[in-house]
Amino acid sequence: MRLAILLIFASLALHAGDSAQDKPQAKDGTWAMRWRVWCDAENGFAFRHPYEWWMPGMYDNALDRQRGQGGTLTKKEETVVIEGKKVTMIVPARRRSENDLDRDVLVFSEMSGEATIDALGDKHAKIPLRWEDFDYYRKDPTRPHAEAKAGAPEGVTARLGVAEDRCVLAVRHGGRTSGLVMAGKTDREHTKAVFDSFEILPIPVKGKKIAAGTWRERQFRSGMVFNADGKTLAPKGKYKPVRWTDGWEIETEHFHISGQTSPTRLLQHGAYYEALYKAYADVYEPERMPPVKFEVHIFDLAKDFVAGAGAWGIPVSMGGGSITGGFFVPSLLSLWVYEESGQLGGDDFTVEHVSAHECSHMFLHVACNGSNHVPTWINEGLAVYFESGKFKNGSFVTAFPRERVERLQSIYSDTNRMLMKPDWYLDHKGHIDALQYGEVYAMVHFWVFGAGKEGKTRFHTFWKALRGGEEGNLAFERIFMETMIKTKGNREAAIRAWEAEMLTYVKKKLKG
Ligand SMILES: [Zn+2]
Repeated sequence: MRLAILLIFASLALHAGDSAQDKPQAKDGTWAMRWRVWCDAENGFAFRHPYEWWMPGMYDNALDRQRGQGGTLTKKEETVVIEGKKVTMIVPARRRSENDLDRDVLVFSEMSGEATIDALGDKHAKIPLRWEDFDYYRKDPTRPHAEAKAGAPEGVTARLGVAEDRCVLAVRHGGRTSGLVMAGKTDREHTKAVFDSFEILPIPVKGKKIAAGTWRERQFRSGMVFNADGKTLAPKGKYKPVRWTDGWEIETEHFHISGQTSPTRLLQHGAYYEALYKAYADVYEPERMPPVKFEVHIFDLAKDFVAGAGAWGIPVSMGGGSITGGFFVPSLLSLWVYEESGQLGGDDFTVEHVSAHECSHMFLHVACNGSNHVPTWINEGLAVYFESGKFKNGSFVTAFPRERVERLQSIYSDTNRMLMKPDWYLDHKGHIDALQYGEVYAMVHFWVFGAGKEGKTRFHTFWKALRGGEEGNLAFERIFMETMIKTKGNREAAIRAWEAEMLTYVKKKLKG
């Protein structure tokens, strides 16, 4: 007998519990996670930082060591004088005192102009610092990215600025100065290691073979995986699954993926996830994305997944005829899946299909700046659009979710009405049941994918409204339903017309 499978979208449940778990932590080291990657490819730098550090806003260029300690960041423009010149800059408006730092880490990057590295560092630190040289090319096992033979760009200079309560690493590369302002002294936990991880990305030059991306990303491209000690290895032969903390990791252009099944599997996942990313980006067409590499954890067995999630305070429902295939966790900004889901749940439930669904949630969350205003039907409808796709010749090709749609079509034929009225969905942000996944897919298809160029244009306007903090149901009505409301005379008539058109659309037009 076929299991009734649920693809659980955990972010909803976890949002509700946010206040109770402001600081999700693994109970012991058994399920510890590795460092995350901050990568600003546009401005040409990257660094790594502990997993628990929290981005207050995806587009804010800041980190907190613990979630929620800084409150809501608002901004204002301020004019400061740097070396006799007036400069307008955006500064955090909530400060504890005039020179206090709002955040534990502020990330900056700007064209250097005439200013010295020290002057730019002082500007971002908001106080004058004591400066010394920082040897960017220092030989050190922790700095393989800074070795010329490993492709590090030439001509990088760096300075370290210190004061009583903050320190700055400022790095000049090309015409730009980038760096980090960190609260506390240089001997504060992790500060030195974060500075040491700071990496300037090579600039691809036309006609010259210079590989782009971070050093770790280039290792992936040449078929290398990192082991638990941070050493590279080229997978050979067969591997057995290992304990989570003994597992492997890779860094691709947009992902940092860790897993315990085998390094060979990680290389496959890396190629697959990059293809997925491209499929999402083709729909969203973002002019830029936040500087975060998507964090993915791929466990081996269901029991590993359940134990790992449990250690991080995430309850997983398994048994009673249903399993959880994976989830995206907004409060940890990470994706959790496991290899065994396909064996337990069948062909529609492989780790690849679950990843395509869950990573759609993650893409939306990151692109929309962690918006809490996304109605479930849109978020899940998009996830279903991607979940059935296949990896072919290095690309991700979306496919028709046949089973979900055929079930819906047979219900519509019997009842001639939707499972729930459009009204019910518009403002709903909680759980939906298994059958409704087909319905929300049909709704999204009706408005976005089946609506030609206009559907896509509206979708762009819509997700950018979410990114700007607008309430999702209001943005939807404003952007998608405006014409229909005008034509039908009022909102109620438009919603009735939508339901009627939906029924016809699902019965006649929705085909694989
Ligand atoms: Zn989902």
